[in-house]
Amino acid sequence: MTASPIHTDPASAGGFNNLGLDSRLRRALDGAGYESPMPIQREAIPPILEGRDVLGCAQTGTGKTAAFALPILERLLEPSDRSDRRTIQALVLAPTRELAAQIFESFECYAANTTVRATVVFGGVSKRPQTQILRRGVDVLVATPGRLLDLMNDGVIDLGSVRFFVLDEADRMLDMGFAPDVRRVTRAVPRQRQTLLFSATMPREIEAMASKLLHDPVRLAVDPISSTAPPVEQSVYFVDGRRKTDLLKSLLETGEVDRALVFTRTKHGANRLVQKLDRARIEAAAIHGNKSQGARERALRRFKSGDTRIVVATDIAARGIDVKGLSHVINYDMPNEAETYVHRIGRTGRAGESGVALSLCAPEERVHLAAIERLTRRRLDRLKTPEGLATEPAREERDSRTHGRGARRGAGGARKHAGGSHRPRNGGKTSGGTTGGRERNLDSRGAGRGKSTESRSGAGSASRTSGSRRRGRRPAGSHRNA
Ligand code: AMP
Repeated sequence: MTASPIHTDPASAGGFNNLGLDSRLRRALDGAGYESPMPIQREAIPPILEGRDVLGCAQTGTGKTAAFALPILERLLEPSDRSDRRTIQALVLAPTRELAAQIFESFECYAANTTVRATVVFGGVSKRPQTQILRRGVDVLVATPGRLLDLMNDGVIDLGSVRFFVLDEADRMLDMGFAPDVRRVTRAVPRQRQTLLFSATMPREIEAMASKLLHDPVRLAVDPISSTAPPVEQSVYFVDGRRKTDLLKSLLETGEVDRALVFTRTKHGANRLVQKLDRARIEAAAIHGNKSQGARERALRRFKSGDTRIVVATDIAARGIDVKGLSHVINYDMPNEAETYVHRIGRTGRAGESGVALSLCAPEERVHLAAIERLTRRRLDRLKTPEGLATEPAREERDSRTHGRGARRGAGGARKHAGGSHRPRNGGKTSGGTTGGRERNLDSRGAGRGKSTESRSGAGSASRTSGSRRRGRRPAGSHRNA
């Protein structure tokens, strides 16, 4: 798609004062510790306030929730726009319960000093409390598509007053088979409305959806690759598939990992891994779709508070997990879609923090590693696997040479796992304030896209990346060259 690139201009990175937001919203932002708008907020808020539709290529972690929530709240606060009865005026659709809950929390936080009321509905929990809140009336509804349709069928929800319609993580909604549900919801909202559509990737289906739903949209792009890559140190261990748990245990036992989100491909795999860690006296919790909503929320709460250090999750369940200070993302199973890798590592290195992403790659997963390196145009640092757990070294080197083709080469070859640190740089914070790292990062929009992304998204040409500038850089004191 052709989109306005979001460039970083530190000189314009003032506070929120220039964006025309109500003082009640600004007070809430102060309270949340937001000092200055993130680039996507600076770019998206003004056109949304003007009533324009927006097509945003951005993923969670870039600050996009505030980019749409703040201008919507602002518009809801305008006296001329307030209707007498409390009706649903803003509808936000999200693919997963976790993401929906998180968007709702953001609305609650930003609207804390106002009378605007928001609520969230999703499946997996009783409908009754949701119904009661909806009957009392809300201005903003955040929902997953299935439960929304369910409640619409029950006659509890009327979307006839919706003025703002947001589709968040639209690509995920399609991946998860929500396309028919989204079409049904779309038919129920008035044609006269403002529509904001966000998606981490822009495959043809999203472009088609956008052209049907949006009217002359402002296009914004925060490249998913460049937005996650620079603040996150990315490394890989080549390991025998059967020894992955041993390697993971040794990594978790070094004391370097403050809090880690470990990804497995399947729910069953997540459960099994938690049991194995448990036997090694490493406390971990699993978050996946077979867990009850209550159990998922409990696990997430304990993870956020720091009571649980390790969470093992599947991709879908991990969408929307936003845990401050998450030091490590560990790919226990390599994702078989390169873009999933970008989503995963985006759980760390958020809001200006830095983080570490470690991947455990079995021989049969090399093909996935190659796809990741092609997409990100970045060669993951090779870490030396402890004796006895590695795959056969000669083959490893040969394979890494083959797979490295197409990906830019890192400065070094295999690096030693010499008990080195996996700590994020600067103890988890970038030096340039809350948004400094993120802004540098966003500056390189469009850069670092591999062929696969370009051909799918029709995105602009690859250019300089922050990642390329950082190639070969490592956290101080870690992974010394072999
Ligand atoms: P999101 O992409 O909306 O999921 O946001 C990612 C994280 O950034 C969340 O923890 C937000 O609370 C945080 N965040 C969003 N905007 C700002 C800002 N302007 N300053 C600091 N943190 C922010």
